[in-house]
Parts: sequence; structure tokens; C-alpha cells
Amino acid sequence: MNEPWICAACAVEYPGDTEPPEVCPICADERQYVPDGGQRWTTAPELRDAGNRVQVRELAPGMWGLTAYVGIGQTAILIESRSGNLLFDAPGMIDDESVDAVRALGGIDAIATSHPHMFGAQSAWSAAFGDAPVWVSAADEAWLGLRPPTMQTWSEPFDVLPGITLDVIGGHFPGSAVAYRPRDANGRRSVLLSGDGVMVTPGGRVAFMRGYPTLIPLSAAVVRRIADRLSRYDTDVVWNNFGRRTRDYGSDVIAEDAQRHIDWVNGVFDHLT
Ligand SMILES: [Zn+2]
Repeated sequence: MNEPWICAACAVEYPGDTEPPEVCPICADERQYVPDGGQRWTTAPELRDAGNRVQVRELAPGMWGLTAYVGIGQTAILIESRSGNLLFDAPGMIDDESVDAVRALGGIDAIATSHPHMFGAQSAWSAAFGDAPVWVSAADEAWLGLRPPTMQTWSEPFDVLPGITLDVIGGHFPGSAVAYRPRDANGRRSVLLSGDGVMVTPGGRVAFMRGYPTLIPLSAAVVRRIADRLSRYDTDVVWNNFGRRTRDYGSDVIAEDAQRHIDWVNGVFDHLT
């Protein structure tokens, strides 16, 4: 197979055997944007030749961030389960050094993405780790450019690895997904990896939007639905897809900031504007 095309703006991969689409559908969507210079395509070798690398750093016990400052520049999270590691979201490129670093941390047993903006170079990461299964939320399957050979779709909550649950919360995308790991006997705090279905904001609070760079809101009813869905998880810390986390008890932050959002869009605070 030829090197996959990578959208220079969002760093999502597309099949390399054919011409790339005229415009990346993910960037052309109202939740993202095509940069002023127009659509540009690149490849992983080109990104590496330009000096880009995936940086691996510890975020918390049993959790590491993988960051490549290409495309959206997300921080994918490698998280330990009771048996094996999950890569939640994928960097937009891959290089030998980061593969070696991840191998030293136990490798990757499964990959899951929070939503299409985070597909990144998931096929390459799967191939580098023994064709690890790539779990894609069924409601967002149509956004896939390059379909990983080991792709599996899902829609109901399930344990992707022992002790890590995937769940769909919707909102940002209909298939927007989270991963939850409860507290454990080693004293590790419970974590909710939220992609940007729940966006952790500067200061460690959270917000809920349909579009982030383009700032398109969600209704009160949808935010209520998301908060109700997440109330089943006893969450100490929410981590987003940029290596940012909540400071106070996560379940309270979600409940309080969901209510704040609902009150604002319902006009409760209109006298303040
Ligand atoms: Zn794109």
C-alpha cells in the first residue's frame, strides 16, 4: 500500500492508493475549517522529514500522553487496563522513536477514538502494534477516510480491555465516545477520557459544544442528556484530548458546568449580558 495521505489541517489519514479527495470532508464540515491557504495533503514521511516527532510523556500513574504538533495537535492517551494498554485517540503521525517508547510501556492492545477529528494515523498505530483492533463508534463510521483493516464498530457500552469501558455520549458528534477507568486497589484515581465531547477548559472546568474552533453551541436538552449519561460514572478526573484535566472532583464539575450551560442557553443569566 502507498503511504496514506494525511490532511495537513486535521492530520486524519486517507487511502494512499487513490487521489485524496479535493477537500478533506472532516475539515469542510462546519465543526472544523479549511485553512485560508486551502486544502493541503502530506504524508507521515514528509512530516518526519520536516522534523515532527511524537512526544511521549507521563500524565498520571498508568497514563501517558502522545503528542504530535501536526494537524489539530491532540494529545492521545495511552492508558493501562488490568491487562493491556488502550490508545484513546491517535496522534496524526507515527515515528520509530515513539513506537519504541510505547513498546517499552507495554505496547498497544486496542485503539479507540473519541470522534472523527481524532482518527489521526490510527491505521499506522494499529499496524505498528500487531494489528491492534481499532474501535470506531458506529454512528461516526461514515467519517472514516482510511478504514483500518482491523476496524470494529460498536454502539453499546462495553469493556474494550479489562477494566476500561467505552461509552457513547453524543453531542459534539452523534458517536462521540468516552473511556472510563475506575479507581483501583493501587490507589489510582478514576478517570474519564472525554476527547472533546466534554471539553476541559483552562482552569479545569468543562464545556460542551457542537463545534469548537467554530464555536457552535449545543441545546440545553442535549447537555442534560450528556450529563445524565455521565452521572453513572464516579469520576475523579476528566482528561481531554489536549492533555488538560479537571482539578476538582470530576463528577461534580460535569454536573455543575452542565447546569451552568443549560441555564445560560435557557436565558437564566440574560440580565448579565
Ligand atoms: Zn482535514
